[in-house]
This record gives sequence, structure tokens and C-alpha cells, in this order.
Amino acid sequence: MDAQDINRFESKFMKKSGDECWSWLASKSDGYGNFRFRNKILKSHRMAWEIYIGKIPHNLFVLHKCDNRSCVNPDHLFLGTNVDNMKDMVKKGRSKIFSEIHSGEGNIHAKLKEKNIEEIRKMCKSGKYTRSYIAEKFNISSNHVFRISHNLSWKDNNFKVADFKINRKGRNNGNSKLTDKQIDEIRDKYKTGNFTQKRLSEIYKVTEHHIQRITKNKVRK
Ligand SMILES: [Zn+2]
Repeated sequence: MDAQDINRFESKFMKKSGDECWSWLASKSDGYGNFRFRNKILKSHRMAWEIYIGKIPHNLFVLHKCDNRSCVNPDHLFLGTNVDNMKDMVKKGRSKIFSEIHSGEGNIHAKLKEKNIEEIRKMCKSGKYTRSYIAEKFNISSNHVFRISHNLSWKDNNFKVADFKINRKGRNNGNSKLTDKQIDEIRDKYKTGNFTQKRLSEIYKVTEHHIQRITKNKVRK
């Protein structure tokens, strides 16, 4: 990137004084500024990091301290991991799915006590009540009831945002490919004591975390 590129970059926003955001004025996608550089469209806040601070280390994300995706003020940017990125999204309410699943920050699971969760599971298991009946009783969504009954509650099994992200992206999607038979096999093998979780994860090509969930009976067939 030469002086001319930097001039071009800086023509697309106003450098303001003090602690103000430098909002990108040119084209944007999803709130983030776009900057065309060497025939590629790059995110302007990432460019800002590279221009004013330095190279972005591999695997790290450039995140905003301010809640302004179009901001390119380097003072408002910081580096974080993918997980930080997810947390950041949750915190800022950008991802509905994550904010529903990832609790612990005063959102939806917080309404429920441990005791309620147990009761909800019992009610679901009994088969006597509809999900919407239970939802109404506990003043939660029926989707939430579903997640509780399937052990997808963050509170109870430490459901990891990062894992969820990986699965959604389909990068390591093998976890869902196991058949019922394989899940039984995994449980049997693990019981023999001859297989570590790591070994099983290699054999079945799923994450160790997933094996752990299977062996703890947290994965339903
Ligand atoms: Zn800003």
C-alpha cells in the first residue's frame, strides 16, 4: 500500500478530533465500509488497522470498541479472537441466535432458575404437556423450551459459542453426521476403557467436545 492508496483510503471518511468515530462514507456492506484494493473488496476497518497500527495477526479479528461498524478510527478498534467476535456480537445484540443461546449476561436463561430447568425437562419428558403450554407457564419461548429439553442450554452444559459457530459454518460439521449406531458404538467403546475421547474423536472424525457430550449422554439419538 503506497501513499496514493492511503490518500484514496482517507478520502472516504472524515478524520475527526478527540474520541469521535471516523465513519466510512463510501460503499458499505452490512454496515462495514468497503475499500477496493488491488481488485479486491476489503473491509475498511481492517484496512484502517493495517494502515495505522500494523499487520493483523493470523486468525485474529478486528473488532469495534464503539458500536459503529463503519468506524475506521484506530483508537476504536481492537484485536480479538473468533470467540471474542461472537461475544461482541452477542453483547451488541447483533446476532439473535447467539444472544438467545449464549446466556449468562442477564438474558433469557437468567429468568429461569436451576429448579425450573429441571421441572421443564421433566414436563417435556413426561409427554403430557405441549411445548407451548410449558412455554407459557414459564414465560419463555417454545423454542427455548425445546433447547432446554435437548440440553442446549448454555447454563447446563456449557454449550460453547465457538463450537456452534464452527458447526454453523460447516467447517467441522461432521458432528451431525453420526448415525445412531455410531453413537452407540462410541458409548460402548468408551465404556471398555480402551479408547480415550481423543482417539474416538479421531476415529469418528468429530470434535473431542462432541465425544465428551456423547459419553455423558448429552447427545440424544
Ligand atoms: Zn468509532
